[in-house]
Amino acid sequence: MGLLEGKVCLVTGASRGIGAATVRRFAQEGATVYANARTPNNMDSLCEEMSREYNTVVKAVYFDVRDESAAKKAVIQIRKETGRIDVLVNNAGIMKDALIGMISRELMQEIYDTNVFGVMNMIQLVSKVMMFQKSGSIINLSSIVGVEGNPGQLAYSATKGAVAAMTKTAAKELAGKGIRVNAIAPGMIDTDMFRSIGEEKMNEHLANIRMGRFGTPEDVADAIVFLASDLSGYVTGEILGVDGGAMV
Ligand code: NAP
Repeated sequence: MGLLEGKVCLVTGASRGIGAATVRRFAQEGATVYANARTPNNMDSLCEEMSREYNTVVKAVYFDVRDESAAKKAVIQIRKETGRIDVLVNNAGIMKDALIGMISRELMQEIYDTNVFGVMNMIQLVSKVMMFQKSGSIINLSSIVGVEGNPGQLAYSATKGAVAAMTKTAAKELAGKGIRVNAIAPGMIDTDMFRSIGEEKMNEHLANIRMGRFGTPEDVADAIVFLASDLSGYVTGEILGVDGGAMV
């Protein structure tokens, strides 16, 4: 019996990186998974392949997390098809680096639209469904830089700090409704996003990781499985670091 058998899960930003690894791990654990992507059709064949491989339902749902009405339609569709949503993973995110003097209003707006307003909107939409069923687990992707800061990431780190704050507040507000809300704060995880900083900076970061290696998307997905499953039934309001000891 898989850890997530019988659970209906929605993962945003599932086309690659941590989101894609999470969809696969959820399917392995027997969940019904809705994998969100913003480019129509680009997840269809992968979802079909995972459904066959893990003998479960993995379905693509296409919307941009910045588009409130499209997100609402998707949540209504999932509820119509399954009657519930047990797990929401707010994974979709973007990273744009700029030194303080170079940050434009447009950059701030762009990064907040996805990383903060997108997450807030998804929490609002899905918590309504979870309140009705009196249960659910929401997992948000914060970041080590949302807690520690990082030069060149004033805007990005602020959005990830906001995600941590939202997690704490939502956990307090929703605990009485049977809904747990936690966050993961990944360190340096080997995905397109992290590789975009360039090899030189990647190597600088490596020196601070006590376990001596970058994380993999699967390292993060495993922690997400724990927070999604009943194994973490008494855990809420936590910001779980998955960083190979970078914060120790
Ligand atoms: P990634 O490889 O860049 O993937 C990001 C995913 O988010 C992609 O699937 C992307 O879709 C999707 N996405 C972006 N904007 C979206 C939008 N408006 N609507 C729907 N989907 C959208 O990133 P990652 O490294 O896997 O990161 C996943 C999460 O972990 C992010 O929230 C990130 O901030 C956080 N995180 C990552 C690290 C790290 O070291 N990698 C560290 C700390 C935190 P497209 O394919 O369409 O672009």
